Amino acid sequence: MEQFAQYADWLYLVGAVLFILTLRGLSSPASAVMGNRYGMIGMTLAVLTTFFASHNPNLALIIAAMVVGAVIGIYRARTVPMTHMPETVALMHSLVGLAAVLIAVAAVFHPGLQHDTIHRFELFVGCFVGAITFTASVIAWGKLSAKLAARPLKGGWVKPVQSILFVAMIGLGIEYFVTENIHAFLGMTAVALVFGYYWIAPIGGGDMPVVVSLLNSLSGWAAAGIGFTLNNSMLIIAGSLVGSSGAILSYIMCRAMNRSLLNVLFGGFGTQAAGGGDDSPTGERNYRSGSPDDAAFMLSHSDQVIIVPGYGLAQARAQNAVKELSEALKEQGVKVRYAIHPVAGRMPGHMNVLLAEADVSYEDVFEMDSINSDFPSTDVVLVIGANDVVNPAAKDNPSSPIYGMPILEAHRARTVMVIKRSMATGYAGLDNDLFYLDKTMMIFGDAKRVVEEMVKAVSGTGH
Ligand code: NDP
Repeated sequence: MEQFAQYADWLYLVGAVLFILTLRGLSSPASAVMGNRYGMIGMTLAVLTTFFASHNPNLALIIAAMVVGAVIGIYRARTVPMTHMPETVALMHSLVGLAAVLIAVAAVFHPGLQHDTIHRFELFVGCFVGAITFTASVIAWGKLSAKLAARPLKGGWVKPVQSILFVAMIGLGIEYFVTENIHAFLGMTAVALVFGYYWIAPIGGGDMPVVVSLLNSLSGWAAAGIGFTLNNSMLIIAGSLVGSSGAILSYIMCRAMNRSLLNVLFGGFGTQAAGGGDDSPTGERNYRSGSPDDAAFMLSHSDQVIIVPGYGLAQARAQNAVKELSEALKEQGVKVRYAIHPVAGRMPGHMNVLLAEADVSYEDVFEMDSINSDFPSTDVVLVIGANDVVNPAAKDNPSSPIYGMPILEAHRARTVMVIKRSMATGYAGLDNDLFYLDKTMMIFGDAKRVVEEMVKAVSGTGH
């Protein structure tokens, strides 16, 4: 093992390159499986290298922990439904945060270890970031899985409590850094755990995906901090990759919603209407509605159709029915494509994952920027459970809260069909002019049921 240690840095370098290739692979659905494989090989290499390069490892304890972790991980990965992915990811981040705290506490209490100034700084930052990540991720998991109420914690006292906890946490951390007082270190950890709760509890359930992405970033930085403590270059590199990719993802999500990160974290936007709600418009405006049969007739007599999936499609679990519909239309010679908005649904890539689950070909799926110019030449746009991502107010109403948010320009198609259960608003709580256009037909009902009826009708209709 001693001899093996001299090769460790080289093997870590190979692992780091594999992690970078992983991120590159995950940037497109077509290369994602390969990307995942690179990640698995890189992680196996990293674990084995750390294992063999350690001095006097406690083999029994390490192997027992790895077996227990692997059994739980494999079971969870096999049983978790796609719709529960966001909360599962949140739970996994909590474990990274917890690991950072446990390692930092173990390092502080380790009898033989001396901590110089730099080490104490790494321990202080790694531990409080890990502790915040832990509690905040548990709360995010609770809100996303509906085990905790999604509504935000409100009250004039919330911000002062947050500020007091933050100042106390940093103050105790500095005391440890300057005096090496272990009690101050433990106090800082306890306050950081409580702060994690008060940081996330005031944020509504609808904003949790951005928060999860931010916590992903924090968990990476916590791991990188601990990498410095343990003098492990692999942990530093892997932590930094997670930290920076999570930060970039949070930024992309905020930009696609035309909001700043500060607004998400402290603004409370959309919390009243998160998840739909029944604050529907009063009904004074006229709209046209039709049956699934009417829609099927028009669809099967079109040349070009674009399907726009949204959060309602995920809610209704209609992805397989939608795939059947597009297959039935293709058999009738209709060109069918899917248009995906970057924040359609409630987590990044939500729609891509659902469509992939239903085996929709990647070649039929288009990102917003590459398909927006095709809407004017499209016969029918079929909007399924989407609302905000096709709201034209984002383009032409400067007083709208979503003004400036990039949208899929469904309103420019020749005919628009919208499947949803009512005229209720979407996540942003806003009425949608698209639903009242002369060329729009609303088809009311649960997306899965409506699409299944459309499949039957299309199959019985000729071109
Ligand atoms: P929206 O929330 O705007 O609209 C979804 C629509 O689906 C609702 O209007 C609802 O209408 C309908 N719906 C719900 N359940 C069903 C059902 N069973 N069958 C049929 N229709 C249903 O979703 P979009 O995808 O258009 O937009 C996403 C929103 O989420 C954006 O505002 C975005 O900013 C926000 N967001 C996205 C994040 C991300 O990472 N993707 C992160 C945070 C926020 P009805 O009740 O009438 O059926």
